[in-house]
Amino acid sequence: MNTETGEAKKVKCPQCGEEVENLVAFSLCWQESDFRLVDNEGSYGGPLPDVVPVESIENEFECPKCSAPIATGYHSAVAFLKGEKAEGKS
Ligand SMILES: [Zn+2]
Repeated sequence: MNTETGEAKKVKCPQCGEEVENLVAFSLCWQESDFRLVDNEGSYGGPLPDVVPVESIENEFECPKCSAPIATGYHSAVAFLKGEKAEGKS
């Protein structure tokens, strides 16, 4: 197959070999919500719109086709999508 050149940026999943142009990111996030006493117990109310990823914790990035773990951080996920070799993984 000679699809290596001239295409939109696509990289192959090392697990399933499928070409992917995105990853599925699982991120730990801070979520704001209303918190108050209800019947004398703390109760989380409806979530407020702000959801902030916790950057200090490694997030997981998986192949959208086979769910193989591709990267465990923003930088290695970006490197993978750029077609650069992700560090520490094969
Ligand atoms: Zn895959």
